[in-house]
Amino acid sequence: MSENYQRTLPVIDDENRAFWHGGADGRLHLMRCQDCGYWLHPPGPVCPECLSDGVTIETVSGEATVEALTVNYKVWGAGMQVPYVIAIVELAEQKGLRLTTNIVGIDPDAVTIGMPVRVVFEQDEDVWLPLFEPRPA
Ligand SMILES: [Zn+2]
Repeated sequence: MSENYQRTLPVIDDENRAFWHGGADGRLHLMRCQDCGYWLHPPGPVCPECLSDGVTIETVSGEATVEALTVNYKVWGAGMQVPYVIAIVELAEQKGLRLTTNIVGIDPDAVTIGMPVRVVFEQDEDVWLPLFEPRPA
């Protein structure tokens, strides 16, 4: 174990590069099928809805709703800040388009299911982690 707590950063490949690096411009980038409009997350080479390979990167609004959450109070490593919220959020663009993330900018105990949130990015080395903070409804 290292002295300081570090997130485990994702392994970047051609399919997920836009998602993890796209936050450099402050926008959330996801793959979208150009034939049927379906958003793909996690990314893949083929649309699961219509089997088209005409998928490309587009930006989403970054607005989402908290769908499920848990508050972690346990310190797993030195330098780790607790408590913090691990949440599943559903993006505004599509029913079932979900990300697992952290909710920041609010008392962890005040986060509720159904809370409207918006994306913010935290840079860690060459990765921009999409986190979410409360937004006005
Ligand atoms: Zn499609």
